[in-house]
Parts: sequence; structure tokens; C-alpha cells
Amino acid sequence: MSDVLVVGASAAGLATAESLRRRGFTGSIRLVGDEAHQPYDRPPLSKKVLSGAWAADQAALRAPDALAALDIDLVLGSKAVSVDVRKQEVVVSGGRRLPYGDLVIATGLAPRRLGAFDGLAGAHVLRTLDDVARLRGELLAAERLIVLGAGVLGCEIAATGRQLGLGVTVVDPAPVPMGAQVGPEIGALLAELHRANGVEVLTGTKAEAPVVTNGRITEVLTSAGLVTADVVVVAVGSTPATDWLEDSGLILDDGVVCDSRCRAADNVYAVGDVARWWHERQARSVRLENRTNATEQGLAVADNIMGADKPYVPVPYFWTDQYDVRMQVFGDLAGADTIRVLEGDPADRKFVAAAEAAGRVVGVVGWNSARGVRKARELITS
Ligand SMILES: Cc1cc2nc3c(=O)[nH]c(=O)nc-3n(C[C@H](O)[C@H](O)[C@H](O)COP(=O)(O)OP(=O)(O)OC[C@H]3O[C@@H](n4cnc5c(N)ncnc54)[C@H](O)[C@@H]3O)c2cc1C
Repeated sequence: MSDVLVVGASAAGLATAESLRRRGFTGSIRLVGDEAHQPYDRPPLSKKVLSGAWAADQAALRAPDALAALDIDLVLGSKAVSVDVRKQEVVVSGGRRLPYGDLVIATGLAPRRLGAFDGLAGAHVLRTLDDVARLRGELLAAERLIVLGAGVLGCEIAATGRQLGLGVTVVDPAPVPMGAQVGPEIGALLAELHRANGVEVLTGTKAEAPVVTNGRITEVLTSAGLVTADVVVVAVGSTPATDWLEDSGLILDDGVVCDSRCRAADNVYAVGDVARWWHERQARSVRLENRTNATEQGLAVADNIMGADKPYVPVPYFWTDQYDVRMQVFGDLAGADTIRVLEGDPADRKFVAAAEAAGRVVGVVGWNSARGVRKARELITS
């Protein structure tokens, strides 16, 4: 029996366990994860680990002694397969039963796959340390990379591919890269950035089918014609890892549905990429896929387990690194009708802009302007 059982041993799960200890929680904590690795961070995977600037172990979230000091029972290589919320018990692969006082669901996301590409030699997804090892191994021997999907992950992989000296094509049916996250204007700037760095950006283009020669992908048929490839990365989004919760009775709707306290049921919380909770200030249910939320929500859930009974009302924030640009976004850019530059100049790749909807600032974005964008954040009114 553990007083708190956290399922998912990555950013959000570890943040919850760590925050509990920092708040003085003295009960037992068990952290269960299906990966064999010690908890590690995902943002470096598509950047420094894929490029080779970092060794894999530099992505570790905590040093072994810091992990040991938390006094948690870390169970790795163990997949949760079901939960009985009435009996307060999780079953993991192999049949072991793990009773709990409070359960924290922190299982993150699984990459969405494209059926025709799935399992083909030369086709990859990127979510885990094992994925990046496989992908990097193939990129080092490759000349041409195709990235299917121009979201945040696809754009970062394209940028790293160029850094490794590969010819890179990005294919996406949407009109601009990262449009869902940053809207059309900033998305158009990103397309320019990638083109200036030698990427062939095929937006408004659909990937139709892989062409396989001698068992490996050699080309991709797109709505704009054939594109040659040694390696294809499928980066078309992810879905919440809730397969193990199907029969739990918990409400699942593009994530584990929670109240404003991130509580899915009595004694059950969800945190990080997998959690969809009621954001009181935005008066809607929200699910965020970003690193800062994993930490902040972990803190909020730890507080609520300890009886704080506080709503979680963050201003969403993410960053991405592509080439020499660090982009930082607070709030919501995609829903804006106007982008107003506040300082700097997009042509210099150093600026801060406000995103407005019906005259109100709903988000701010900075390129290479960490201080300016943090200050501009105060302008967000909803
Ligand atoms: C390559 C990459 C780059 C990124 N870059 C950025 C960035 O630049 N900026 C940014 O803001 N965000 C970035 N993100 C997003 C950020 O990493 C995530 O928001 C964050 O990792 C979410 O943490 P999490 O703990 O909720 O989920 P995850 O990190 O996905 O962890 C969930 C863990 O649960 C495990 N698990 C799943 N199912 C089970 C089960 N049934 N039983 C046991 N364990 C299970 C998983 O294997 C995983 O270890 C990036 C993500 C990726 C993949």
C-alpha cells in the first residue's frame, strides 16, 4: 500500500512526488513508470540529444542521489494496465496489484501514427529516449529527411536535421507551420525561418503514401508530388495515454477529465499532458502539452492532495528552440485576430508581439526576447 501512487515517471509525475516532499508530506509515495530509464526530460530530445550536443544521460531530470533523497519507491519498467477506483488499486503488467490512498495519473501522451508508415524501415516517431537513439542512428547515415507534420515537434526535428547537414522537407496540409499554436502571422514567419535555413516547406500538402524499395522507405508520395527520403519522421500529434483507463469508469475525453482541482474522482488526480481540467479563469476545459505545465500542475496537485482545495489557473506557456531562435509564448495566440509588434522587429528575428482578440490581449510571443516577453505577459487580460 502507498499513500500516494503516481503512474507515469516523467516530468509531471516526478514534479508531483517532489512537491509533496517539499510541502512536508511524510506518507509513502510510489512512482511507477513503463520506461526502463530513470526519469528524463523530453524537450532536449528533439534538440540537443538528437543533434548530439548532449549525451542521453544529460537529459536526466534528477541526479541519482537527488532521486534517492526523495524517499520514494520508484518502480520502473512496469506498465499500469488497469485501475479499480472503488478498491483503490492499480494493476501493473505481470499482475502485481498496487493499492493506494490517492492516485495521480501522469501517463502523458502517445504519438499519433499514420497507418501506412507504421513499422516501415526508415519511418520514426519521436517521444522517448529510445526513439531518439533509433532516429539519430539513422540520421547520421542519411542524406534526406522528410518530416510529416509541421507542429512544434516537426519544426524542431526539421531544424535539427538541417543542423546535422541533411536535406530536409517538411510536409503538412495546414497553410503554415505551427498554426494551431501560434496562428497564421507567426506561423508564416516560421515558414520563412525554415526556408531561410534551407528546408523545403511543403505546407498545404498532404502525405499520401510511402514508396518502399527493398523493404525501406525511399520516397513519399505527397499531393505536391514525390519527395525522396532516407528517413521519415511522423510528427502528426499525440493522443493522451489513457488506454489503461478504458474500463476505470473515469471520464475520458481527449484526456482524463478533471474538475478545477485536477481531480478526476475521489482520491484520483491527473497531471501533465494527459490531464484535461476545468480552468476556472478561462471557463472551459483545458489540456496543455508543455513542459512548464507539467511542473506547475504537479505542484497544484500536490497542494490539493495535502488539502489546499485550490483551483489550478495557469497562464499557458511554452517555448521552442529552432535554429538561432528561441520562441516563447504566453497565453493563446491561435485565437487572436490581430498581432501587434510591441518591440523589436520580426525581420531581425528579435521581437515581442501581443496577440489580440476583440481588442483584448489574449497572448504574447517573443522571439529571442526573454525579458521583453516576460514583461509583456502582464498585458494578458484573460
Ligand atoms: C521531443 C519533445 C520535445 C519537446 N519540447 C518541448 C519544448 O521545447 N517546450 C515545451 O514546453 N514542451 C516540450 N515538449 C513537451 C513536454 O516534454 C511535455 O509537455 C512533458 O514531457 C509532459 O510531461 P508528462 O509527465 O505529463 O508526460 P510524459 O513526459 O509523456 O511522461 C509520461 C510517462 O508516463 C509513462 N506511461 C505512459 N503510460 C503508462 C502506463 N500505462 N503505465 C506506466 N507508465 C506509463 C510514459 O512512458 C512516460 O514515461 C516536448 C515533448 C517532446 C516529446
